[in-house]
Amino acid sequence: MLRVAVVGSGPSGVYTAQSLVQRDPEVLVDVLDRLPCPYGLVRYGVAPDHEKIKSLQHSLRAVLEHERVRFLGGVRVGADGVPVERLRELYHAVVYCVGAASDRRLGIPGEDLPGSRSATDFVSWYSAHPDAVAADDGFVRDVRAAVVVGVGNVAVDVTRMLARGAAELSPTDMPQGALDALSASGVREIHMVGRRGPSQARFTTKELRELGALPDTEVLVDEAELASDPAYGDPSGLPAAQRRNVEVLRGWAATPAGGARRRIRLRFFLRPVALLAVEGRVGAVRFERTAPDGRGGVTGTGRYEDVEAQLVLRSVGYRGSPVEGLPFDAGGGTVPHAAGRVVRGGEVAPGEYVAGWIKRGPTGVIGTNRPCAKETAESVLEDAPVLARRRLPGDPLDALRAAGAEPVGWAGWLAIERAEAALGSSLGRGVVKLPDWAALRAAAGSAARSPLARPPAGPPCPADRPTPR
Ligand code: NAP
Repeated sequence: MLRVAVVGSGPSGVYTAQSLVQRDPEVLVDVLDRLPCPYGLVRYGVAPDHEKIKSLQHSLRAVLEHERVRFLGGVRVGADGVPVERLRELYHAVVYCVGAASDRRLGIPGEDLPGSRSATDFVSWYSAHPDAVAADDGFVRDVRAAVVVGVGNVAVDVTRMLARGAAELSPTDMPQGALDALSASGVREIHMVGRRGPSQARFTTKELRELGALPDTEVLVDEAELASDPAYGDPSGLPAAQRRNVEVLRGWAATPAGGARRRIRLRFFLRPVALLAVEGRVGAVRFERTAPDGRGGVTGTGRYEDVEAQLVLRSVGYRGSPVEGLPFDAGGGTVPHAAGRVVRGGEVAPGEYVAGWIKRGPTGVIGTNRPCAKETAESVLEDAPVLARRRLPGDPLDALRAAGAEPVGWAGWLAIERAEAALGSSLGRGVVKLPDWAALRAAAGSAARSPLARPPAGPPCPADRPTPR
């Protein structure tokens, strides 16, 4: 048997586990996650109102319930956790699928003023990520106008969440604190701002269109501003995805303002140069007007515009963080690799692999992780005959416990799910996410104590059953 650890239980980790067990009946996979909950960005990144994408959890779940896959939550790897070298001793192969957890910065004056935050922080807050400050309801307090910097799909997500009201948010699994704060929000104006033109925006058309379908909200675009983009006047030469974006924007430009309660203003050719303070917190963003440089980029024009905002969310992309003990390309925020095999000092490191955003950078949709994971799994299986010759010390679970980890098995996760259903019903809502570490740990811990810990039917809890060898 080949024992593989997959570090990270988001889509890339689960797709890697799936590829491995589907292709080779001689593989056992432990999927480790530092959180007691599986699914990574599907649980903590996909917006709560995107129920269809969130339902992907059902297919990820089927993989984690596979008889040769075992979920071990609450296990940190690297700094303050199980060292990379130790993990390497416990398994024949380790695949790192740790994503790109950090956010990129703008690097402009005023960026650290109160009221200036990353979109990642905002997403973590409304997604109940336990590292977000649960009581942080300050995002939208006293905010009338917000600026979202960037025109990618994350920018669209946070813009939409700022514009949604209680009736639409209440049926989601959003934590109660975020729901209360957003329901009471006085945000009336949201500016989503791109530094280049409409034909270069990174959002996808389906996501863009959703902005036009929000209740009590209108989308405003300034025809003159968009027209600086040569492809705006004649989008016929654009690739289909960009052409459709431009067509949606042209439609909005042709629609007169209707006086809705909230306005989303889509702005282009403006690059942020400073955040301006008013009474010790952000009060406006200073933008420089840009113009196309004819090569797909823009140049500054020396003309400036200040946009009032009490909340600024920078949504300018994610960035991978180094894992202590693994090589890291600081420029790209990724781990150097060859077809998924980690490269150390120019040489392939046997038994170490990467998949997902830490392998290829933070791009693509969830489905992009499938072929990426498949490539890595194929590399693992090609190397398997040599890797499997090494004798392992025993079941890694014992060694992980001995190293101080307290893994949360599948039963622990199911207990968290039950606690979230119970919380929701006590609030008169559907499932509501537990918002902090204490609540998650208490719920997971109850699996060990409660007679209901095991699912009444279905497969036994993988973490609690003897592992086949
Ligand atoms: P992204 O798609 O890379 O977009 C980043 C945006 O930030 C771009 O508009 C970029 O402009 C802008 N930007 C970068 N640096 C900037 C700066 N210094 N000043 C001003 N603007 C700057 O990143 P993302 O939105 O974080 O999305 C990450 C990935 O997740 C994407 O592949 C996305 O499609 C995916 N995602 C998908 C969904 C969905 O399918 N519903 C939802 C969320 C995320 P330039 O183009 O000029 O660099």
